[in-house]
Amino acid sequence: MIKENLAYVENEIQRACQNCGRAREDVTLIAVSKTKPVSDLREAYDLGIRVFGENKVQELVDKYEALPKDIRWHMIGHLQRNKVKYIIDKVDLIHSVDSVRLAETIEKEAAKRNIVVNVLLEVNVAREESKFGLMPEELDDFTARISGFTHIRVKGLMTIAPFVENAEENRPIFERLRKLSVDIKGENVDNNTVCILSMGMTNDYCVAVEEGATMIRVGTGIFGARDYTLSGEVH
Ligand SMILES: *Cc1c(COP(=O)(O)O)cnc(C)c1O
Repeated sequence: MIKENLAYVENEIQRACQNCGRAREDVTLIAVSKTKPVSDLREAYDLGIRVFGENKVQELVDKYEALPKDIRWHMIGHLQRNKVKYIIDKVDLIHSVDSVRLAETIEKEAAKRNIVVNVLLEVNVAREESKFGLMPEELDDFTARISGFTHIRVKGLMTIAPFVENAEENRPIFERLRKLSVDIKGENVDNNTVCILSMGMTNDYCVAVEEGATMIRVGTGIFGARDYTLSGEVH
């Protein structure tokens, strides 16, 4: 089933790219594998997928250990400061920086290891109370406050759009994130080379691509519905 799903998603991405005159290479598909067994990830890997997204630190570390080392792991979920140290040298990109304190911890842990960590700033464009992320008006101040952090590179912005019936409803959200990224780019802050826009999930990635997404995060569309009853968590 993963094979057919991937073929379908790939086809949809290409169609969306054609709709707006973008090149397929400009959009990175992140296979969101949270809650899924290693065997599913292995199947996707064998089909050519190399970028996986996880939202829990322990799960990411376990899968990192179990799977080939040429995989690029993306941390897409809310990150607690005391867990930064476990993933900092394992992830290619952290999508979910949403507080100065978290950025400080990443800076400190990265400095210890003498590495530079690529991050995105998560923006709560839709202003949903249930979601993490900076408010759009907080962004300027935020980038200024972390501009001296030499072990963090701000590569772009990320947003989680609301769950909607019709993906078109999220088009203004994606458009807004793109505009915010243009504004930030104009600021010329030292450690920021904003060019990544991480937006779009299973229900709305085509619209996100049309609005300029350079990374889309697709879980259900590739791996099928998630079963949270196993972990006992409520989502
Ligand atoms: C789970 C998750 C996704 C994938 O969601 P689907 O609707 O299954 O594609 C994308 N982004 C984030 C941050 C997630 O937590």
